[in-house]
Amino acid sequence: MSPTPHVLLFPLPMQGPVNCMLKLAELLCISGITVTVLNTDYIHRTLIRHSNVLTRFSSYDNLRFKTISDGLPEDHPRSGQRFLDLFDGMKTVTEPVFREMMVSGCFSFKSDPPVTIIIPDASFSFALDVAEEVGIPLFYFETVSPSALWTYLCLPKLIGAGEVPFNGNDLNVLIKNVPGTETFLRRRDLPSFCRLDDVDNLVTKIIMKEARCVPRAHGLILNTFQALDETVLVHMRKLCPDIYCIGPIHTLYKSLVTTQSSVSNSLWEENATCLSWLDTQVTRSVVYVSIGSMAMMTVEQLFEFWHGLVNSGKPFLWVQRPGSVIGEYDHNLVPKRLIDETKQRGFITTWVPQEAVLAHSAIGGFLTHSGWNSTIESIIEGVPMICWPQNVDQQVNSRFVSEVWKVGIDIKDTCDRGIVEKAVRDVIDVRKTEFIESTRMLAELGGQSVAEDGPSVMDLNRFIKTITTL
Ligand code: UDP
Repeated sequence: MSPTPHVLLFPLPMQGPVNCMLKLAELLCISGITVTVLNTDYIHRTLIRHSNVLTRFSSYDNLRFKTISDGLPEDHPRSGQRFLDLFDGMKTVTEPVFREMMVSGCFSFKSDPPVTIIIPDASFSFALDVAEEVGIPLFYFETVSPSALWTYLCLPKLIGAGEVPFNGNDLNVLIKNVPGTETFLRRRDLPSFCRLDDVDNLVTKIIMKEARCVPRAHGLILNTFQALDETVLVHMRKLCPDIYCIGPIHTLYKSLVTTQSSVSNSLWEENATCLSWLDTQVTRSVVYVSIGSMAMMTVEQLFEFWHGLVNSGKPFLWVQRPGSVIGEYDHNLVPKRLIDETKQRGFITTWVPQEAVLAHSAIGGFLTHSGWNSTIESIIEGVPMICWPQNVDQQVNSRFVSEVWKVGIDIKDTCDRGIVEKAVRDVIDVRKTEFIESTRMLAELGGQSVAEDGPSVMDLNRFIKTITTL
């Protein structure tokens, strides 16, 4: 019998990836596997402050936390336009420290077995070099959508064929070199960095490295379920044969670990009073608005959304994350009608327990930036989306939402009060029946995937068996 594996999880220091990896940590722990979670100092401190993680995880005697510097000063915002600084900080500080930790074996507490499996975020290409150097198998955990990852994996081909870069021209031209998507993926639906004038920029370099490293890993873990992403998985498996689809991870977690809705790995303080406000609203009447943990909007865009929401006449719950608006405005100059109607029908706050919000029966639509976690959280709750994508994988996700799964409307590259108003009315009223049907079908497939013997449960078990016998 092989010794018990000791898994090292190393999430990208962002809300979505950290939340998923902590849930994966618990899923592995309940199978008896020893787990060390490596978070940046900043993320670890923030989790302690807002989510009480240390107390919550103290019930596991096979789970440890370790921390590492992200190379940025404490007061750095680590989001919005300055998010990319994180990759500079990690390159200069985190990478060498990580390598030193792995080579010296200092990840193990005295009583623990040494690390036998590394699971980093798929954007950490440096972790693969280290894993190969120390001879420890590595499985990548991908936090972007499989469809976006597939475009990343095709990027060398897209560049070779001259399809990327396209200098922002003719955005409706169909893309030919992403197999499986030829009939619907346009230039405007490729990841945002493809719009840059040249391929010699930081993001493209990170993604190109990722595209080269992912197929070299022992395996790949995806936060999706088979039925959702079969269109691209069938092609991806030719490059990465050992894929584990264990999503939606938060639903698998609820099915196998705990059904408690109070479990939170949040990096901001959640305002749960919005749930009581939702209790007072009519079924499927409220539009929930959030652009996630990183995306930003300008003051002009904020007002287009605000007017559009108010003009739709529907109630709305709007998350305005601190620091998410670029620029300032004079609150005394906000039109009185916006203020009055927001008081009547709106609830604005800084951060909410999103999974619980999306699960609430009053929610009829989600105006989202199409981050992958938000997308899959919305899919599993059967909530139709209005997609306003900004960065990286979000452009791809929103196209799949509207054209492949048909569970929402893609308003990418527009920000106009009339379009917002129409999209809200469509989702909540005009196309309600159509969306209820399409979202229900997909949510049911997602539910089946995490039920007993469902494909995601089977893939998790297959993964545990693989790492136990390696
Ligand atoms: N989220 C939350 N409360 C909020 C807004 C977002 O808990 O008020 C969570 C959401 O449930 C999701 C994550 O933040 O799990 C955002 O991840 P996503 O991949 O959607 O977008 P990102 O923040 O990475 O751009």
